[in-house]
Amino acid sequence: MPPTKRPKRKRTAAAPPKKSKQLIKEEEEEEEATPEDIEDLFSDNDTQKIRASLLDWYDHNRRDLPWRMAAPDPLEENGEEKEKRAYGVWVSEVMLQQTRVQTVIDYYNRWMLKWPTLQHLAQASLEVFLNTNPMSVLDVWFRLEVNEMWAGLGYYRRARFLLEGAKKIIAEGEGFPNTVSSLRKVPGIGDYTAGAIASIAFNEVVPVVDGNVVRVLARLKAISANPKDRKLAAQLVDPCRPGDLNQSLMELGATVCTPSTPNCSSCPVSSQCSAFSISKKDESVLVTHYPTKVEKVKQRHEFSAVCVVEILGRRDPSVKDQSGSEFLLVRRPDEGLLAGLWEFPSVMLEKDVDLTIRRKKTDHFLKKEFRLDPQRNCTVVLREDIGEFVHIFSHIRLKVYVELLVFKGVARDLFSKLEQETIPWKCVDSNALSTLGLTSGVRKVYTMVQNFKQNAMSTGSPRKQLKSKRQRSSSTRSSIVN
Ligand code: SF4
Repeated sequence: MPPTKRPKRKRTAAAPPKKSKQLIKEEEEEEEATPEDIEDLFSDNDTQKIRASLLDWYDHNRRDLPWRMAAPDPLEENGEEKEKRAYGVWVSEVMLQQTRVQTVIDYYNRWMLKWPTLQHLAQASLEVFLNTNPMSVLDVWFRLEVNEMWAGLGYYRRARFLLEGAKKIIAEGEGFPNTVSSLRKVPGIGDYTAGAIASIAFNEVVPVVDGNVVRVLARLKAISANPKDRKLAAQLVDPCRPGDLNQSLMELGATVCTPSTPNCSSCPVSSQCSAFSISKKDESVLVTHYPTKVEKVKQRHEFSAVCVVEILGRRDPSVKDQSGSEFLLVRRPDEGLLAGLWEFPSVMLEKDVDLTIRRKKTDHFLKKEFRLDPQRNCTVVLREDIGEFVHIFSHIRLKVYVELLVFKGVARDLFSKLEQETIPWKCVDSNALSTLGLTSGVRKVYTMVQNFKQNAMSTGSPRKQLKSKRQRSSSTRSSIVN
């Protein structure tokens, strides 16, 4: 393992001797007093060589990605083209945060087809209003809005900020902000995205530092931590091609200088790479020792019970075919995880509890929020525990229990009579549900429901199947009215 504190000073793989606290303190004070640590920066000669090698390598090796429009001569590109490029960079960079390139490509293409410019996006809404009347796939496509187009990408706040940002820029009427400082005033645009847009679309000479860049710089300078990464990145930015230089660093980190299997033998900057040089002299040191791995934050374990409520018979009397059913969806709070998105009703559990307790909590929720009360206003046709799965968020490991609860005889005006609506809700039919953009977690739940129904159909008469399930669930049915 590399030493954890500034190994590059001695350019040796050996761990530094332990220092007394006092000595460390004095060194730190001394470091703070030093305006610039020359040893941390690239020499002018190295800077020129690295820039030239990276740009040449990038010109010949960059991946052909839909958001990478060839950089035109900045003097020839008009304002409209620059703004279009800026918009494309913005959308792609936001989508790429925490998401793999291969996943983003389809989302990006669909998004740009629907909203090719900032002006188009500014006209959009956060979510679609789907009525329950049957619609063609094309109809649904035209009605899809930001949340639906983002569905499955996760981190939905990013989509909301994109929309808010587009509306703000258009409302202000001053064109696309073209510097880091003006871009930073747009909701959701941080240093990284601002640097990417400003350098790639508007040729501002500013660095862009993401995880890939940090890793490449740390290895180039054999730095265990990354204390001066912005300075190093700023040093390398090419004054004529800042966007391309930034992208070349990111591209090198993504494709050659990868976290665990760097391909040093085909690296364009291996001659200037300190980690590579050290590793050649000392077998015990690997380039992957740089930078020191940061311990991941431990995931929280959480539990939830999802209840897919299906109501037989349509509530909308204007729909002729009343044989179908509808599913109840509720909207999550505007803040926090998956803010403002639609999902099946669910309750959070304090710990991993058994089915009886889960149902008790679910029943309480349905009765309190929706007055769903089988003894008074509806009948339970089927109630079945259909499985569980684990959904991983960046910092949460959520175990989700899923059950299907089918009602009939719900009075048409039951929901409309809800006086103090505390949770936004809507009922959609299975057609709408299939085409609606759902989060991957909700999609998983719905797939489980569909699989369950298909199994019921294939293992015998559906009526018989449902009847036997009704009998089996009768012991728990009464709990909904408690
Ligand atoms: S030589 Fe190896 S470690 Fe150094 S920058 Fe290139 S790929 Fe990364």
